[in-house]
Amino acid sequence: MNRKRILSVALLLVCFCLSGIAKAPKYVFYFIGDGMSLNHVLGTQYFLAKQPADRLGIAPLCFTQFPYTGLAATFSGNSDVTDSAAGGTALACGVKTVNGTVGLATNQATRLTSIAELAKQQGLRVGVATSVTLNHATPASFYAHQRSRNDYYEIGVQLAQSGFNFFGGGDFEENVKADDRTAPQLYDVAEDAGYKIVRGYDKFKKSDKVILIQDKKALESTLPYAIDATDESLTLAQITTAAIEVLDNRKGFFLMVEGGKIDYASHANDAATVFHEVIDFDNAIRVAYDFYLQHPQETLIVITADHETGGLTLGNGQYALNFPALHAQKVSHVGFSRLINRMRHDTHDKVSWEQVREALRANFGFWDQITLSEKDEKALYDEYRRSIADNKKVSMAKSLYYMDEPISALAIRILDRIGMVGWPVGSHTAAYVPIFAVGNGAERFCGQMDNTDIPKRIAEVAGYGTIDK
Ligand SMILES: [Zn+2]
Repeated sequence: MNRKRILSVALLLVCFCLSGIAKAPKYVFYFIGDGMSLNHVLGTQYFLAKQPADRLGIAPLCFTQFPYTGLAATFSGNSDVTDSAAGGTALACGVKTVNGTVGLATNQATRLTSIAELAKQQGLRVGVATSVTLNHATPASFYAHQRSRNDYYEIGVQLAQSGFNFFGGGDFEENVKADDRTAPQLYDVAEDAGYKIVRGYDKFKKSDKVILIQDKKALESTLPYAIDATDESLTLAQITTAAIEVLDNRKGFFLMVEGGKIDYASHANDAATVFHEVIDFDNAIRVAYDFYLQHPQETLIVITADHETGGLTLGNGQYALNFPALHAQKVSHVGFSRLINRMRHDTHDKVSWEQVREALRANFGFWDQITLSEKDEKALYDEYRRSIADNKKVSMAKSLYYMDEPISALAIRILDRIGMVGWPVGSHTAAYVPIFAVGNGAERFCGQMDNTDIPKRIAEVAGYGTIDK
């Protein structure tokens, strides 16, 4: 080989390598565990290690094995403790705003551009998915611009105007406009904008613009908690699978998936339900990870959270955890409330202590796998007398998203104490949130950063341009 030939081959090799390095990921997955801090993730891994055998230590989730990890602070534009609207806006638009506001700057007027909107401007297909409602704060941060996260109808209208290709979740929150009954329902607004509304995964068929929600039998407008789900329930993993089918194309796509009920369960201080939610979120991430394994050079997956909820502690005074106890729980706080409610209905408000005791045994393992102290047993019986037997007006146990039967909240409080987890608050805290990343560009998500850095870095790596202009 002459020198000229060697040089040109070398040049070609350099070009080839450089093009390999410079190539941006075509497929971006952005997973947000609402309320999911370090202890929610780590606690789930302790929980997983306790079944089937009670092993010391942790069993990994899929996403905790990703090669790159980081940490983010989540303070908002007006508080060290963010809500999901400001937290979502930071993660979507790369700008901190005031709590309660979606997709607008701190003046609550300047419209921000989200990374999803930026991806769409690049001609990519875009999807937004969640386990809660389609127009809830976190998903809304990616397509809506509203002073108040509670303006569900207006946010729903902006969903239809977004032109994104896929939306998936429980349902709309407030399908009708509260102060104007003549306004069209959000379903009609979306259909007029060209969306095909699909109710249930079995009815799902790929088309250009899809909204996938639960069928009409669903008990609430969010997906059920994973711990309460039946074979018929729509799951976040199914929604993610459908999203990929709708979005997949040669140019690329951007998909945000929110595990929204980690936050709901944390507001209710229900540890077993939280851990089942994190596992469910991980199952959705596994769908994306399988896609990554088929397109490793072209895919980036980033996992993070918008804030911590509940101040969850792993340990409550003794140098131990008792997570096998948490595996005795078979329903969520809501599931148990529904059960008691059904008993009230079936017995015409004459529920016996034996019936309640049997339900507590079957669903929390009390008197069975779990020995109760006299004090706990008395507390449960007293609560039964007060809120069930006396049959007066019950003052329900209130958490942010649910009103529970007091005995349900009490049973979970007792079980969580026996499991040795602590919940100092029923609201958000300023704790660190984790970042996990795999794929092309994943190395950019290492170390401590601000929550606003995450979408900025995704936009940069994926070649979407500058996000916070
Ligand atoms: Zn919350």
